[in-house]
Amino acid sequence: MFDFKDKVVIITGGTRGIGYETTLSFCKANANVIIFGSKKESIDEALSKIKTDGYDAIGYYPNLLDYDEVLKVIDEIYLKYKRIDILINNAGISANQKIEDTTTSDFEKVVDLNLVAMFNVTKAVCKYMKDVNNGVILNTSSLVSIYGQPSGVAYPASKFAVNGLTKSLARELAPFNIRVNAVAPGIIKTDMISNLPKEVIEPLIKTIPLGRIGLPSDIANAFMFLASDLASYITGVILQVDGAARN
Ligand code: NAD
Repeated sequence: MFDFKDKVVIITGGTRGIGYETTLSFCKANANVIIFGSKKESIDEALSKIKTDGYDAIGYYPNLLDYDEVLKVIDEIYLKYKRIDILINNAGISANQKIEDTTTSDFEKVVDLNLVAMFNVTKAVCKYMKDVNNGVILNTSSLVSIYGQPSGVAYPASKFAVNGLTKSLARELAPFNIRVNAVAPGIIKTDMISNLPKEVIEPLIKTIPLGRIGLPSDIANAFMFLASDLASYITGVILQVDGAARN
């Protein structure tokens, strides 16, 4: 349905879950896909899975919290392809402890990856997008960025901030024809939720009007749409993809 031939797409957290499915979707749509992961082993594993699926991508594992390290990799990608069209900031971790069990460092760890890393990669990429007056930046937010959640406060706090970053950068970068949007997934079947016990998951499904948990492909499809020219007048939007779930 979509064709991203010649486009260069960077996807953070591309090694599994939503990021892997999104990687596969962009590969199928003929894009040059670069994934970022947390370590060499997970990158190697993801790249070999992509090969088995009949596609090709390349991967890096910069420390996303180190701006200089991120910039070095982004510069390298630009040198190789001479363009960066689409950035999908998807790497993230969740939290579910009560506030009394959350240390300051637990809180910072979530905010660091979900927000500070997003800032670092976005900053490094957008200088190239600004040079050519063109680009798309997509962020993975969450349903909890709209409603909060009853534990693990660092996670919704970080995702509310992702929405703030998205809406603000949409306005700052619009004069450079760079669109910035976020997708806010509901409950999606990935490793992130596979540790949740059945007693937690089953009542959750009952609260979803569409009657099912989302699939990584539901989110990948939203990213494809927002990255495409069909969305050329859409910026600053937080697109909920959640089966109308309200937690
Ligand atoms: P996942 O745990 O399967 O994947 C997380 C990805 O983030 C992995 O590719 C991992 O390599 C990467 N990552 C984790 N720590 C990292 C680090 N320190 N440095 C670099 N990369 C790191 O999770 P997922 O469900 O696919 O989540 C992807 C995104 O979707 C996250 O931002 C998450 O908050 C969001 N999300 C997920 C759900 C859900 O129900 N699964 C719901 C709403 C939002």
